[in-house]
Amino acid sequence: MSKNFETKAVRIQTERTQFSEHSTPLYLTSSFVFDDAEDMRASFAEEKARNLYSRFSNPNTTEFVDKIVAMEDAEAGYAFATGMSAVFSTFAALLNAGDHIVSSRSVFGSTHSLFTKYLPKWNIETSYFKVNEIDKVEALIQPNTKILYAESPTNPAVDVLDLEALSDIAKKHNLLFVVDNCFATPYLQNPIKFGADLVIHSATKLIDGQGRVLGGVTVGKAELIREIYLFSRNTGPAMSPFNAWVLSKSLETLAVRADRHCENALKVAQFLEDHDKVNFVKYPFLPSHPQYEVAKKQMRLGGNIVAFEIKGGIEAGRKFLNAIKLCSLSANLGDSRTIVTHPASTTHSKLSESDRLEVGITDGLVRCSIGLEYVEDVINDLNQALES
Ligand SMILES: *Cc1c(COP(=O)(O)O)cnc(C)c1O
Repeated sequence: MSKNFETKAVRIQTERTQFSEHSTPLYLTSSFVFDDAEDMRASFAEEKARNLYSRFSNPNTTEFVDKIVAMEDAEAGYAFATGMSAVFSTFAALLNAGDHIVSSRSVFGSTHSLFTKYLPKWNIETSYFKVNEIDKVEALIQPNTKILYAESPTNPAVDVLDLEALSDIAKKHNLLFVVDNCFATPYLQNPIKFGADLVIHSATKLIDGQGRVLGGVTVGKAELIREIYLFSRNTGPAMSPFNAWVLSKSLETLAVRADRHCENALKVAQFLEDHDKVNFVKYPFLPSHPQYEVAKKQMRLGGNIVAFEIKGGIEAGRKFLNAIKLCSLSANLGDSRTIVTHPASTTHSKLSESDRLEVGITDGLVRCSIGLEYVEDVINDLNQALES
């Protein structure tokens, strides 16, 4: 197989059936049949690599996983029903009661709930570092720390974390370095290249790219994936074959879609940076981004998420959302349709101002997931909403 991303995305494919189909069929089957008792025994004893039951594997999920494994230069992987089931199962499979996690403070909301509400049920605690305080990470490590966890770029403030620096800390202290690479996709950033042991994606976002199906995947070192696989085949968070079929098809166009998403996002970021109703813009590939050099080192392009702060705080943010005409107000991201959110008055309105500021959500912060519309139409919509 070619080492080039686009070719892998299009050409990695399950074996053809006797019908010589060109594109992969959908294998809607919950189980697979055996020739005889010996075949069944040997299959369950894992003396043969084959499909047994779709909670374990299925040709469609295998094709999807094989592509992500190749794109991330990983050894193995497992596909999940959602990004959150990938995050949860990865932790649940690898941690024991009493273990400890060190994580960036800025993580996806449900991952944060997992750390604060659910993992403590098994006596697993998490210590947090701020995105601009990587120098304080080592001080948080305890004898029972097992995982160093990070997302980059972060949601919703679009901060960038130096993956190589974090991986050096993890190696020095014998920790597993786990990266949620959702915002970057396997096309824009490959954390394994910078030392990550495991990479998690919510496939719901740019991998699907059209806001239609949910999915998740974890890839990385084979011995770790083996633990995650055994946990998952017993506990049942598997991706459905239908979603795997959709998502594998989506991967064929990821590179061309992501190129356009990023080109549009950079144009929107540049437009916003010059706007007099805007205090600041955060976009990894704008030279004004505080971690611009790190972003340039570890990302191919800047991604499709642009954050900016509107002048006038919460009320100005609410007014801005209400004035939007073309773009969507929605909780998703990575869709072909541009989505705008104002976390302080919507998704994060229940948090206190100081809790919001901890994760970079100022009162006027707006997050835009830039889509695939004609970019001037998106800019005109944002402009009229800022001016109204
Ligand atoms: C959306 C998202 C998730 C969760 O994915 P789901 O598919 O919605 O379960 C996890 N991490 C990040 C960074 C996300 O954006």
